[in-house]
Amino acid sequence: MPGLFDLSGKVALVTGANTGIGQGIALALAEAGADIAAAGRSAATETVDKVQALGRKAENFRADLSSVAAVQPLVDAVLGEFGRIDVLVNNAGIIRRADAVDFTEEDWDAVMDTNLKTLFFLCQSVGRHMIARGSGKIVNIASMLTFQGGIRVPSYTASKSGVGGLTKLLANEWAAEGVQVNAIAPGYIATNNTAALQGDETRNRQIMERIPAGRWGDPKDIGGAAVFLASSASDYVQGHILAVDGGWLAR
Ligand code: NAP
Repeated sequence: MPGLFDLSGKVALVTGANTGIGQGIALALAEAGADIAAAGRSAATETVDKVQALGRKAENFRADLSSVAAVQPLVDAVLGEFGRIDVLVNNAGIIRRADAVDFTEEDWDAVMDTNLKTLFFLCQSVGRHMIARGSGKIVNIASMLTFQGGIRVPSYTASKSGVGGLTKLLANEWAAEGVQVNAIAPGYIATNNTAALQGDETRNRQIMERIPAGRWGDPKDIGGAAVFLASSASDYVQGHILAVDGGWLAR
């Protein structure tokens, strides 16, 4: 069975790998055998050190993914260093909170650009490379708000709903090319992204009461799903959005 999930010799490009869910995914992929290209606007020094401690190759690639201009230089740099990309994890993302009646165009564009536009063009650039090689795995990070409306996060909900749609579109186009495109929808995971919610006593209590597992998720909780979707264990899984949510959606 371990062979099904073995990522030895594979190269995974993980965006936003310095912290939170991205770091959890990078470490899980490395534990399964993958080398890691850790991309993001902050240096992923801790992640790179931890991956190297596991005996895998890891390199840091600085890229501000708020602009599509960063995409091709990043992909070229990773291919230059590693020679190939077998797995792309589109994890980098931001959130802006305000009532819909007050929401600004700046908060709309910032979230849509990073969470959806850059994600698509990274899929396109790495997808071209994977199609040429006849294989590859793309894992996009979606959200509960791929399925639900949420509150006070209009651009985030729009972007993550878009991630779900794009994941299915790309799966349709690239399944016959040997490229699997799927997504993980994390539930409420304790990271910087959710620090404001965790710090809000009322919202924190409401969220905890709604999670059947009775706890916030940890970035490590996302790692197993990422290994599954990055490995040959999921070769016939296409366009799926895998909720890892402690039961939130089942409630
Ligand atoms: P996080 O701790 O805030 O991490 C976000 C990551 O994205 C960081 O590495 C961040 O880099 C990077 N990033 C943001 N803007 C970037 C940019 N312009 N260029 C390059 N990198 C950028 O949040 P997280 O909770 O781990 O979130 C990771 C992903 O999971 C996001 O897509 C988020 O929407 C999604 N998600 C999170 C939850 C949750 O409950 N936490 C639930 C569902 C989905 P810096 O450190 O430099 O800012």
